[in-house]
Amino acid sequence: MLELLHDVPLAPRTTLGLGGAARCLVEARDEGTLVEALAWAEAAGLPVLVLGGGSNVVVADGGFDGLVVQVALRGVTPTVGAGGVALRVAAGEPWDALVAQAVDEGWAGLECLSGIPGLAGATPIQNVGAYGQEVAEVITAVHVWDRRAGARRVLSPAECRFGYRDSALKRDPDGAVVLALDLALRPGGAPTLRYAELAQAFEGGATPSLRQVRDRVLSLRRSKSMVVDPADPDSRSAGSFFTNPVVEAAVADAVVEQALREGLVERAAAVPRYPADGGRVKLAAAWLIEAAGFRKGQRRGAVGISSRHALALVHHGGGRTRELLGLAEEIRAGVHARFGVELRLEPVVVGHHRAGA
Ligand SMILES: Cc1cc2nc3c(=O)[nH]c(=O)nc-3n(C[C@H](O)[C@H](O)[C@H](O)COP(=O)(O)OP(=O)(O)OC[C@H]3O[C@@H](n4cnc5c(N)ncnc54)[C@H](O)[C@@H]3O)c2cc1C
Repeated sequence: MLELLHDVPLAPRTTLGLGGAARCLVEARDEGTLVEALAWAEAAGLPVLVLGGGSNVVVADGGFDGLVVQVALRGVTPTVGAGGVALRVAAGEPWDALVAQAVDEGWAGLECLSGIPGLAGATPIQNVGAYGQEVAEVITAVHVWDRRAGARRVLSPAECRFGYRDSALKRDPDGAVVLALDLALRPGGAPTLRYAELAQAFEGGATPSLRQVRDRVLSLRRSKSMVVDPADPDSRSAGSFFTNPVVEAAVADAVVEQALREGLVERAAAVPRYPADGGRVKLAAAWLIEAAGFRKGQRRGAVGISSRHALALVHHGGGRTRELLGLAEEIRAGVHARFGVELRLEPVVVGHHRAGA
């Protein structure tokens, strides 16, 4: 028998603490409940929102007029073999506890992904990444419930079509529910030190341990309010609100020329730009936002830009989702007007926006 909760406030189930209620919600602690809940919603003609830790969703003030399936499947099963360790991780496992466990065991591959909030099942959705690692690098399979076929499926990394903060799963939110991940980690492996800010911290010394790298990542993240901490008001966010735009090289060159012409930078190298696939260039959204005249710590009523990170929008309490989305739109339009570059939202916006709600 399905235990349905009705009219459930969603704000407390998100890191932003914003948004209205769900018409109904089921906590799925086992696969049977999850499948039964999906069938119930389909029979009732209701849309479904799969919710993990709520750290990458923006819920509309009008709430979600459908069924929220809160994923609570648990279990971590390691298999140690000659070539490495294979980990089967259930979708409801808290992500950072898993990273901590891997680091404690001496299994390399996740250390730079320390401190990312949320649950394991959401990590392939936007191919989470930070400090030089992406989860796609260690995923060998994603076990899903295929909602259209009504069956379990195992997706290969190629089928997941991982990209920068993107995957086939993200592009088809009603297609599948992630049940578990298979990860391949490297026992005794060296940490990944690709990210300049992280590598610099260990320059000139011996190769750091996985734990030293994790600790350093956590302290860098704390300095930018990128670790959820009830004592830090700047961490009441959804992390980065915009992805870094990937543009044609000519567009990036034009941004650099404009920045030099307008005296925003003294040297071309001061505009952050990184090579991306197909000869394209990844620009830094945070740099564009500040160069377009927005400031860290700037507020619009109950919402604002984090005082420590121009990419994070923060809810200071008592606010509404429409205020947050209004600020996001102001930033998007401001960057576009100044540089002709389109910023895209990183979090998923769910629910409906009733007029005046
Ligand atoms: C302070 C802070 C820092 C952050 N830092 C980073 C960072 O460094 N790098 C980064 O990539 N992200 C970062 N994020 C974003 C976020 O933490 C990640 O995207 C995380 O993986 C989301 O997990 P979640 O369980 O909270 O997902 P939710 O927010 O609950 O869901 C996100 C999306 O995934 C879908 N989803 C969730 N679980 C499942 C499932 N089992 N099956 C199918 N769909 C599912 C949801 O429907 C939704 O569309 C940060 C967020 C915060 C608040």
